[in-house]
Amino acid sequence: MKILLSVDMEGITGVTTWNHVTPGHAEYQRFRKVMTDDVNAAVRGAFAGGADEVWVTDAHWNGSNILVEELDGRAQLNSGLPSPLSMMSGIDQAIDGVLLIGYHARFGSTPAVLDHTWSATCVAGLWLNGMEAGEYTLNAGVAGHYGAPVLMASGDQTACAQMVEHLGNIETAVVKQATGRFSALCLPAEKTLPLIEQKAKAGVQRLAQKAAPAPLVIKTPVEVRVRLATSDMADRAMLLPGATRNGLEVSFTAEDMPRAFSGFRALVNMSYPS
Ligand SMILES: [Zn+2]
Repeated sequence: MKILLSVDMEGITGVTTWNHVTPGHAEYQRFRKVMTDDVNAAVRGAFAGGADEVWVTDAHWNGSNILVEELDGRAQLNSGLPSPLSMMSGIDQAIDGVLLIGYHARFGSTPAVLDHTWSATCVAGLWLNGMEAGEYTLNAGVAGHYGAPVLMASGDQTACAQMVEHLGNIETAVVKQATGRFSALCLPAEKTLPLIEQKAKAGVQRLAQKAAPAPLVIKTPVEVRVRLATSDMADRAMLLPGATRNGLEVSFTAEDMPRAFSGFRALVNMSYPS
C-alpha cells in the first residue's frame, strides 16, 4: 500500500492564529516543528497499519513548511508550490489511500480555527455541483478521480465533523476544540501525537481489510462556483475562459475533477488584488 499524506497547517496541534502559520512571523518557526511532529506521528501510524510506502505532501502556503531534516526516514516529501497537483501533489502516482493532516473547516464555519477555503483573502465560498465544499472536498474529489479514498484526517472538531460528513466514515484525530476563529482548547502534543498515530494506523488498517470508506466521486461534468470576497476580485476571476458571473459569484464547468481543480486554482490566483 502506498499512502499519501496531504498536510496543511491550520489544523496542526496548538495552532490558533495566523501568526502560527505565516512565514516571517517569529511564532511560525515553532509551529513548523510542531507540524513536523504531527506528520511523523501519522507516518508512524501509516507504517504500523501496513503501508509499504508513505509520501508526504507539504500543502500549506508555499509548500515548504515541514522540516525535512526531522522527517521520518521512511517517508518522502513533496515540497514546494506551485506544483501540478498542489495540495494533492503525488496523487496521480498510484496512491492507494490518503490522510489529511492539519486540515481546517471551510470558510464561514464556526467555531472553527482559521476557517477558510483555499484563500482567506479572496474566497468567501466554494460550491461543487451546488454543494458547499471545503478544501477537503476539493482535494478528496481529486483523490477520488484517481481512485484513492481518504482514510483519516486531523484538525479541530468542526473540521473533522465536516470531513466525516463529506468524505464518509473516516478516522479522525481531533487535536483541539475550537471556541472561535482564533481560539481553541488545545490538547498538548503529548496527547495529540499518540492520537494521530493511532487514528492513522486504524485508517490504513481498514484499507488493508477492505473496510475503508469509498473514494469520493464527484459527478462530472463538475460545476464549480466561487464566491469572491469583493467585486474587483470577481472582475479579475472573470478572465478565466468560459467563466460566467452572478454578482460576487463566478462559475465555470469542467469535464473532470483535475480540470475543475486547476480551473479553481487559476481563478483564485487571478483574483488577488494586484
Ligand atoms: Zn493552510
